[in-house]
Amino acid sequence: MPLDIEAIRADFPILERRLPNGKQLVYFDNAATSQKPKCVIDAMSRYYEEYNSNAHRSIHTLAGEATTALEYARERIAAYFGTSPGQLIYTSGATEGINLVAYAWARENLGDGDVIVLTEMEHHADIVPWQQLAIERGVEVRYVPINTESFTLDMDALEVAVVDASLVCVVHVSNVLGVRNPIEDIIDMSHAAGAKILLDCAQGAPHERINFDQLGADFVAISAHKMAGPTGIGCLLVKSDVMEQMVPFMTGGLVIKSVSTEGTTFQEGYAMFETGTPRIAEAIGWGAAVEWLDQFDMREVHEHINNVASWTAAQMREIPGIKIYGEPEREDSSGAVSFLHESIQSQDLALLLDEGGFAVRTGHHCAQPLMDALGVPSTNRASFWIYNTMDEAEAFIAHLQHVIRRFS
Ligand code: PMP
Repeated sequence: MPLDIEAIRADFPILERRLPNGKQLVYFDNAATSQKPKCVIDAMSRYYEEYNSNAHRSIHTLAGEATTALEYARERIAAYFGTSPGQLIYTSGATEGINLVAYAWARENLGDGDVIVLTEMEHHADIVPWQQLAIERGVEVRYVPINTESFTLDMDALEVAVVDASLVCVVHVSNVLGVRNPIEDIIDMSHAAGAKILLDCAQGAPHERINFDQLGADFVAISAHKMAGPTGIGCLLVKSDVMEQMVPFMTGGLVIKSVSTEGTTFQEGYAMFETGTPRIAEAIGWGAAVEWLDQFDMREVHEHINNVASWTAAQMREIPGIKIYGEPEREDSSGAVSFLHESIQSQDLALLLDEGGFAVRTGHHCAQPLMDALGVPSTNRASFWIYNTMDEAEAFIAHLQHVIRRFS
C-alpha cells in the first residue's frame, strides 16, 4: 500500500504551524532534527503527568511503572534495530556514542602504532574524538578522500587505507551530501583487514531499517531525534564480544555492583556504561517513535523521500546560478540537497527562504573537512523526510526562483 502522506502529516501537530509573518511552515531541515509525531509527545507527557518517578531505585508503584516502561522501551528499540537489549547502550545521541567508543574501547585497546581510518565525509562528531585520541595515545588518523565529481568515497583509497587499520569509522549517510556509503562492503573490507568498524548512522537510521545483527558492524551510533524521537537520547549498539573489551568511562550511580571506601566493582554489559538517573522520558518517547515508524516499510519511505528530493534537485539545476553539491537524484541518496547560489550569500539566501516559510540549514554542517574538499566554506541544505510533499517542493522551487530573480 502506498504511503498516505496526508495521514502521516496529521500525526505531526507542528506541520500546521504558521510563522509570525503568517507564512505556512515548510520544514526542510530534517537532517538537523525531525519533527515528532503526537504519539511520542503524548507518551512523554503521560510519563510526566501520571507516573514520573526515578527508575531502578524505589519499590513504590510509580517507580515500578517507570522501570517497566523504561525496560519495555529498551526492548522495543533494540528489536527495531534487529538486536538484543544487551547490545544497546543508551547515550545522549550519536556524538556521545562515538565518544564512548573512543573513551571506553579505543583508549583501552589502541595506542602507538595503531591506525584509525576516517573519511573526509565525516561529521565532526566522528573526527574530533579520534584527533584527541591521536594526541593522547599516539594513534595515527588517516582520512579517505572523496571524489569531488561523483561526491562519493574513493573506494580504491579506502581499500588501501584499511589494510593495516585497527579501527575504521565511516558515516553511513552524509549529512551534507545525502550520499549513502557502501557500508556492507566497508564492513567486509575492515573485517578482512582485522579492523573493528564503527558506523555513524545518525543520518542513515531515519532513512533505512538498520539490522545490527545482520549488518555485522562492531559499533553503530544513532541519534533518536533525527528519527521521530526526542532530543537527549540515542544509542551505541555494540557486539557483545566487543563490549567485553570496553572499560567503564563515566562512573557514578547505577553502573556499580558495590562501592566501599576500598573501591568499586562494576555491573556487567550495557549497565556498566549507563550511569546516573536514566533518560526515562526520552527512552519512553523513543520507544513510541520506533513503534510509530514500525508501521511503515522503510523502503517505501526512502522511495518517497528520494522522489521529492530528486525532483527538487532536478528543478534547482535549471535555475541559473545554483550549484548542487551531491547527486540527490541517485536512487540511494537520502533526501539531502546541498546547494549554493553564485552571488547570493548562503546566510542571506536562508533568510530569504525563511521569509517564505521554508526552514533550511545553512553553514558548514559540522563537516569542515568535507567543506574543504568541496572548496566552499558552507552550503545551504534542504533535507526531506517522510511527511514532506511534492506540493511543498513545488512551492519551494517557486519561492527560490522568485528570490533569485529579485536579488541576483
Ligand atoms: N553524525 C552525523 C552524520 C550527523 O548528521 C550528526 C548530527 N548532525 C551527528 C553525527 C551528531 O548527532 P547528535 O548531534 O545527535 O549527537
